[in-house]
Amino acid sequence: MECEVESEGMHYEGMCIRPPSEAYSILLQVTLGCSHNKCSFCGTYKDKRFTIKDDKIILSDILFASKYMRRQDQVFLMDGDALIIPQKRLMWILDRIKEHLSWVKRVGAYANAKSIKMKTLEELIELRKNGLGILYYGVETGDDDLRKKITKGSDAKTCIEMGRKVINAGIKLSVTVLLGIAGRVGSMKHAKATGELLSAMDPNFIGALTVMLIPGTPLYEDFVNKKFELPDEKELLTELREMIRHTNLSRGLFYSNHASNYLPVKARLPNGKQEALNLIDRALKGEVGLRPEWMRAL
Ligand code: SF4
Repeated sequence: MECEVESEGMHYEGMCIRPPSEAYSILLQVTLGCSHNKCSFCGTYKDKRFTIKDDKIILSDILFASKYMRRQDQVFLMDGDALIIPQKRLMWILDRIKEHLSWVKRVGAYANAKSIKMKTLEELIELRKNGLGILYYGVETGDDDLRKKITKGSDAKTCIEMGRKVINAGIKLSVTVLLGIAGRVGSMKHAKATGELLSAMDPNFIGALTVMLIPGTPLYEDFVNKKFELPDEKELLTELREMIRHTNLSRGLFYSNHASNYLPVKARLPNGKQEALNLIDRALKGEVGLRPEWMRAL
């Protein structure tokens, strides 16, 4: 395909986010926003209507990266859930990455239940064979009442099935769970149900984030109207402890080193579980310093 806009640089639009582990990746924005865009705590893509970007623009960015990003060997497809791009088109994007960025070793993207559901296992395998190496999936909670309340768009059973589908396709699966999302009252129920969901899904990586209140979101409104109460530091640590306690992986990494958390934990499961629980116990007793409020961020 001829491309006239190749010299203009990368065509980023609006707020762009990527997982911490993709910090050094070539960030290729292939969609705008998130096809779901309804989670009550999420303000990330409120300013964007979901669209798939023009092939010409995508190719232009790939060509730009081929000239100026030769040291970066991973590509991350932004925005919200690039996996929802129809199979033929997504395969075309992966083909162009292979063609022009031959040094790239892995392509990653965000996914949600809807986008994974839309792909057959065979299609996911085809994508993996064409370079898609990892998907990042926002699980948030295993508590079905809470999943409904936060408008996650799927129940825990479907969430587990979608995660298993990715793993069965041979694609690495990294999931995020949300500390504090149940408020004070539902905290322990959320922790236990989430640990159980994670055990059934058995992903490669689990990242625990702490919910942050974003103005303009329904959760923020609930907070202002005193319908939602954020757990305090100790309650969040107790929630994290309970979640890890109920998480049994065959082999995986559970970490809470995101900047939104009070205590960075990195546990290789199953073997590192007790050590992680001990660390949290020491933090609860005040023997380990917590990240100060001003250092916490999204
Ligand atoms: S699926 Fe993810 S990006 Fe989309 S609204 Fe929910 S949390 Fe935000």
